[in-house]
Amino acid sequence: MSPENSINVILAAPNGFCAGVVRAVEIVERALQKYGAPIYVRHEIVHNEYVVDDLRRQGAIFVDELDEVPCGSRVIFSAHGVSKEVQKDAKKRGLFVLDATCPLVTRVHHQVEKLSEEGREIIMIGHLGHPEVEGTMGQIKTLIHLVQNESDAENVMIQNPEKVSYVTQTTLSVDDTSAIVNVLRQRFPHLEGMTKTDICYATTNRQQAVKVIAQEVDLVIVIGSQRSSNSLRLLECAQKLNINAYLINASQDICATWLMGCSSVGVTAGASTPNALVLQVLARLKELGAGSVRTLQVKEEKATFSLPKELQF
Ligand code: SF4
Repeated sequence: MSPENSINVILAAPNGFCAGVVRAVEIVERALQKYGAPIYVRHEIVHNEYVVDDLRRQGAIFVDELDEVPCGSRVIFSAHGVSKEVQKDAKKRGLFVLDATCPLVTRVHHQVEKLSEEGREIIMIGHLGHPEVEGTMGQIKTLIHLVQNESDAENVMIQNPEKVSYVTQTTLSVDDTSAIVNVLRQRFPHLEGMTKTDICYATTNRQQAVKVIAQEVDLVIVIGSQRSSNSLRLLECAQKLNINAYLINASQDICATWLMGCSSVGVTAGASTPNALVLQVLARLKELGAGSVRTLQVKEEKATFSLPKELQF
């Protein structure tokens, strides 16, 4: 393909790692440096196979449940957070815990505890089975109503509509969540919640950026895992704008035929996708005929989260 008719690439910014993921990965790496292998990690530290495989090579052992961790070992809780039961279980087993829960998830945990102490009924907007939802709903013993979509919002049964609040998973679609909250507000005029939901800054910014680039391209490529909630939401954002969009793990998943007839391609990456994978995708697009890459910076991000004290060295 000649330079005059090569494909333009627009890279959405921000894309890739958020402050919570940077912190979680650094906690595992520093724990390995300080204490040596093995370090156990409950659940994938973040939902990305490449990150997990890299840490595994360095000596991390990933487990689904704490009964797989030998007594007295060091265990890290993933960025998604854990329930109170899991915390208690770790104590009972004599495990030395390092908590990589994203501080923005911890903030939702504290909110749930506070609402419960105030005697309020709580609705959680989120996806059934996601570890963050399990962790947040497991902060209190009393029932939290899980609402996954507008239909659930139409049907959720609340005992005291005068005292009902909602919290949300941090990685949801901003638009879908706002539609769900609207339905809940119509049914429960006294509903209380965060002004803008608990969806985090990184999820919000990446969705905003992919919507902007989607207006200018023929195809959007989202780099991220099928298990990554925020990557899936980026895919949906592009698809809702009637753009051809694909979610890929890495550069080798790109099919040359996707580019046929395209004059421009947009690229973005979920909050758990390492920058190395983004660079590999850009290189692959070049091999397939892409020309210049333009970064479209929609939002600046400056957030950083501090590490646990024992790992600050
Ligand atoms: Fe924290 Fe948001 Fe990143 Fe999740 S996506 S780890 S909530 S900053």
